[in-house]
Amino acid sequence: MENIDYDALKKRGFLRQKQEGFFVLRTRMSEGVYKKEHLEKISEIAQKFGRGFAHITVRQGIEVPFIKFEDIPQVEAELKLAGIEAGTSGPRLRATTCCPGNNWCKQGLIDTFSLAERIEKELGIKCGLDLPHKFKIAVSGCPNACTRPQWSEIGIHGQIDTDSPDRRIGYAVYLGGCGGRDPKSGFKLDKIFTDEEVLALLKRVVDYYKDKARPRQRLGLLIEEGGKDKFLRGIGLAPG
Ligand code: SF4
Repeated sequence: MENIDYDALKKRGFLRQKQEGFFVLRTRMSEGVYKKEHLEKISEIAQKFGRGFAHITVRQGIEVPFIKFEDIPQVEAELKLAGIEAGTSGPRLRATTCCPGNNWCKQGLIDTFSLAERIEKELGIKCGLDLPHKFKIAVSGCPNACTRPQWSEIGIHGQIDTDSPDRRIGYAVYLGGCGGRDPKSGFKLDKIFTDEEVLALLKRVVDYYKDKARPRQRLGLLIEEGGKDKFLRGIGLAPG
């Protein structure tokens, strides 16, 4: 097991286990939606290459542990054929988590799936994107905030803009939150954004972070270091 590029494997969704010689396969699907054929294939992989079980992650992925190093190419080929995407780890964007929103939740105000899809397809901000450190995006359909947007680098939830004459539904945004050993709640921006505005903002935040953060510096620490005003100017939300 020498000369193995473990970081490259992580990026491809195979994380080294504590048990020598074994890897956990981390899968993800956009919006956290796995179709019947995806579930069947993951079940098959768990039986053929793992130990017959899978584990659901907090970021809505499915992991299959106990994959042997020598089986990784075959597992990857089978995933690709079935249209199943690999999750990731390391200094990269994680899978965007989203609750069902107004697709079926009675409280849902926004279409969380559609927003997550636009983030990936239109902005190219997709799980596995290389960044200075881990970076998370969470989308919730309403202020109940079931995906905990306050605790991600970028957190979004649907909200009624009570200041607008027609009580329009828009997007509330939190920035700079994180979990881990030094958890921080993100701060909430003082505005309810439209869908086009929220997409443009998200891109500016990711670009700013990519450009300004040091390796292994999370967004919350970058904001603390330079001050919130500087950060808001940097992402175009305050006069420069
Ligand atoms: S955040 Fe709101 S829309 Fe999403 S699952 Fe929770 S209650 Fe439903």
